[in-house]
Amino acid sequence: MQSIDDIMAHMGLPDHITAEPGDFIGDDDLVHCGVCGKAKEHRLKYNGRFVPIICQCRMDELAREEAEQQRQMELKRVNELAAYSLIDERFRESTFDNFIADTPEDQHVLRICRNYVDHWDEMLANNAGLLFYGSPGTGKTFAASCIANALMERRVPVLVTSIVRLTADTFGDDLNELLYRMNTARLLVLDDFGAERETSTKAEQVFSVIDARYSAKKPMIITTNLKDFKTETNVRRLRVYDRIFEVCKPVKMDGESKRRAEGQKKRDSIRAILEG
Ligand SMILES: [Zn+2]
Repeated sequence: MQSIDDIMAHMGLPDHITAEPGDFIGDDDLVHCGVCGKAKEHRLKYNGRFVPIICQCRMDELAREEAEQQRQMELKRVNELAAYSLIDERFRESTFDNFIADTPEDQHVLRICRNYVDHWDEMLANNAGLLFYGSPGTGKTFAASCIANALMERRVPVLVTSIVRLTADTFGDDLNELLYRMNTARLLVLDDFGAERETSTKAEQVFSVIDARYSAKKPMIITTNLKDFKTETNVRRLRVYDRIFEVCKPVKMDGESKRRAEGQKKRDSIRAILEG
């Protein structure tokens, strides 16, 4: 049987590790890195042999490699979600540059959208979303798309979808696949919430999506033409509304009444940031 010494000798360990240009032998008789000055080898007490160890620059290099790998994975996620998203010409043109805000109401909405993007890390950490609601044709989808576009540009994994399109085109009735996809997104933009009302299957899917998002504490931006939040009597629907109002700041886009819906749950800290 071979002794450890024999095995190591067999592995051909040199006396010292191979030094690179700039490396030096320190007072401790070990090879040191010429860049960070840290030892690049360790001497085994029991047989006096040298084994390589990782110096600070190599450690930094490994950390950089890992960060780059993370970045690539994140990028892959961004692209995957973009592929599932409803990205058409109209979406691509929904940018802050194209945001015309010539009324106080529009300026208010624009400010909220910009602040949301600028304070994205806080929004994410606080599971803070937005609910754009009001009459059709008031720019709710545009506002939500501006935010999605700006965050996607910053490589944030965003999924932009409307349940009607997504379930019909991509996932069929595979709710689990749908929920999985939704939850890989840092931000979920759910366009035209309420349009699924006519189909009970789709309505249930939307509720499951919102429940899952809510439980995972991940933010959503929702647009809707619905107005009957107060008068709804269906218990399941009411529970979903409660959850939405708990995590999404309502932004009314109507052009008529500037009064916010009464009794909305105010999340003062988030509000202060958004309106700041
Ligand atoms: Zn080094």
